[in-house]
Amino acid sequence: MAGIYIHIPFCKQACHYCNFYLSVSTALKSDLVRAIVKEIELSKDYLDGEVIETIYFGGGTPSLLDVDEIRSILEAIYQFHPKINLQELTLEANPDDLTNEKISELISLRSLGLDRLSIGVQSFYDADLIYMNRGHSAQEASSAIKRAQDAGFDNMTIDLIYGTPTMSDENWINNIRTAHELGIPHISSYALTIEPKTYLDKYIKTGRALPVNEAQTVRQFDILMSMMDENNYDQYEMSNFAREGHYAIHNTNYWLGKKYLGLGPSAHSYDRQSRRWNIANNLNYIKNINDSVIPAEIEHLSPSQQANEYIMTSLRTIWGMNISDLRLMMYDLKKSLDGVDPSFYLLEGNVLKLTQKGKHYADRIASDLFIED
Ligand code: SF4
Repeated sequence: MAGIYIHIPFCKQACHYCNFYLSVSTALKSDLVRAIVKEIELSKDYLDGEVIETIYFGGGTPSLLDVDEIRSILEAIYQFHPKINLQELTLEANPDDLTNEKISELISLRSLGLDRLSIGVQSFYDADLIYMNRGHSAQEASSAIKRAQDAGFDNMTIDLIYGTPTMSDENWINNIRTAHELGIPHISSYALTIEPKTYLDKYIKTGRALPVNEAQTVRQFDILMSMMDENNYDQYEMSNFAREGHYAIHNTNYWLGKKYLGLGPSAHSYDRQSRRWNIANNLNYIKNINDSVIPAEIEHLSPSQQANEYIMTSLRTIWGMNISDLRLMMYDLKKSLDGVDPSFYLLEGNVLKLTQKGKHYADRIASDLFIED
């Protein structure tokens, strides 16, 4: 089983924390969609005939595409990947794009498999949205969710960000409560991180924006975990919470190490032996694809890199890390565990899982277990 990811690198405006590849000009949108359609043909053998189980439109902002553009991409996928057993087709959307007209158009794509929306809410408070330079208001976010639900998109996820300096613990609790009251079955929630060279990085350094407070971030992560647990959401991945039957299949397949093909500028692909990433430049991407070349770099993964990727991702999941997994069998992981605080993990047979306390240190624990060549 495998997945297909399509990166749509356009946004109406740049959020100040964002370090994804995107353009705020949509001048190349039609050319880019045509190039993606052609890349689908050029890369049709990448997945080696595996059955396609999931399709995911991410970005950027895929909801900026016209419905006919989305349709042309899907039709090309179905043409060049005839072995499809589709379990999930997700499209990321920003609240300000979800007009009634857009929602009706998206509903018309159900016949091509679209069954899930991922809405970039981030917060139900305007002060946080302004701090992050989001392109929508809190009111637009809740209205878009309700209208999409009324139109029939009950399979939905939203993104929420915590640790924003403008957000009190009380407002964070209200954000989570609002998501629950809206009946959203899946929530992805991330700490605000200040990536180098983003607007926020610059503004914080020059005193134009409030800095992030680490203690607040830790506290709000704890609030998140306990409120989700009380409301019957499984924390099936560090930043992902779902009610029964609503785990994201596409992302779960990433974490379980299944193959995926990434299409579009800056998209990544993975075939278990190597990673490939397309050039992060719209114009060069289009030019190369028009010349029938996929402009990508490839990294072949050594056994230790494969093992480390498994350690890194599996420790973040509800399924944990199986010490007897093929990728780890030749290494003595139990010995490396000696250096890890025992209150951070549970060892159930051969499966290592992080405790609530350990979840705060997942990256550090993973790096303590990393294998060196
Ligand atoms: S909408 Fe998403 S991709 Fe676009 S700038 Fe904001 S965070 Fe980045």
